[in-house]
Amino acid sequence: MRKLAFLNQKGGVGKTTSAVNLAAALAAGGHRVCLIDLDPQAHASLHLNVVLGPDDPSIYDVLTGDMTLAGARHEVTLGPLRDGCDDIQHHDGRFCVVGAHINLAAAEVELVSVVGREMILADRIAEDVAQADEEHSWDYLILDCPPSLGLLTLNALVAVDEVYIPMQPHFLALHGLGKLLETIQLVRKRLNPQLRLGGVILSMYDAGTRLAAEVSEDVQRYFAADAGDWASAGVCETKIRRNIRLAEAPSFGQSIFCYAPDSNGAEDYASLAMEIDAARPATVPRAATHAA
Ligand code: ADP
Ligand code: MG
Repeated sequence: MRKLAFLNQKGGVGKTTSAVNLAAALAAGGHRVCLIDLDPQAHASLHLNVVLGPDDPSIYDVLTGDMTLAGARHEVTLGPLRDGCDDIQHHDGRFCVVGAHINLAAAEVELVSVVGREMILADRIAEDVAQADEEHSWDYLILDCPPSLGLLTLNALVAVDEVYIPMQPHFLALHGLGKLLETIQLVRKRLNPQLRLGGVILSMYDAGTRLAAEVSEDVQRYFAADAGDWASAGVCETKIRRNIRLAEAPSFGQSIFCYAPDSNGAEDYASLAMEIDAARPATVPRAATHAA
């Protein structure tokens, strides 16, 4: 199973859009995918029409109570199918969401005195893996993170193997990247030696503009300059173009593949899914082998 987190402490950069549509693309491609919504804003849940009340099982119960991931999973119904969507089998349990509710915002405070609070999600996932039989194991676990580097994000970083950083190509794009990489590096040293950076996903990309191309080069240079820790990371080849259909799809509770299967957005996320699926990590990075 591959475990991926979409992370950037900035809001509005395309984390949720990427997590949801990548998950949908992978599920459409035949993979078994579980998406976990770690943002109290619950945008990923709402995007897939998983609308939870405070008493419905959610990621909050998994992190603060005895709920298992299996108990909090909701099978995704992507709404009325449109042309081109028929090949997505929604009802065979291949695509599930562990949803969030705004009550998740209280989890950080509630867990403040819990020992090992940054490992809770990793433990829950390990339990889930131990219980799943061959037929019901997940190919992909995809985590949508909140726009902060708090306890929820820390739980994500401890639980996953790969981090993808969605980024909007504007002139302050790199601002904050250092802090983000520092956090990832710290978690890798102290808590999760498996952790690696999958890459940066340029989102809301205006192809043909000089700025977009320049930011892409800047990010590439940024990683190249640090040959030690991030040498293997870079910008994903697939750029997600700005596409209004991607912004409309959430209000219909549908992934882009159901809402607008012929759009640029669907094309880009299908292509990103192929790129990420092909980019299976070969080895654990060198720097990950020593614990601090
Ligand atoms: P984050 O999760 O990082 O806060 P979102 O994925 O919610 O960011 O994206 C922020 C806003 O931009 C949302 O309204 C979303 O629908 C829109 N959006 C995301 N990607 C695109 C895109 N490629 N083209 C147009 N709008 C987009
Ligand atoms: Mg989001």
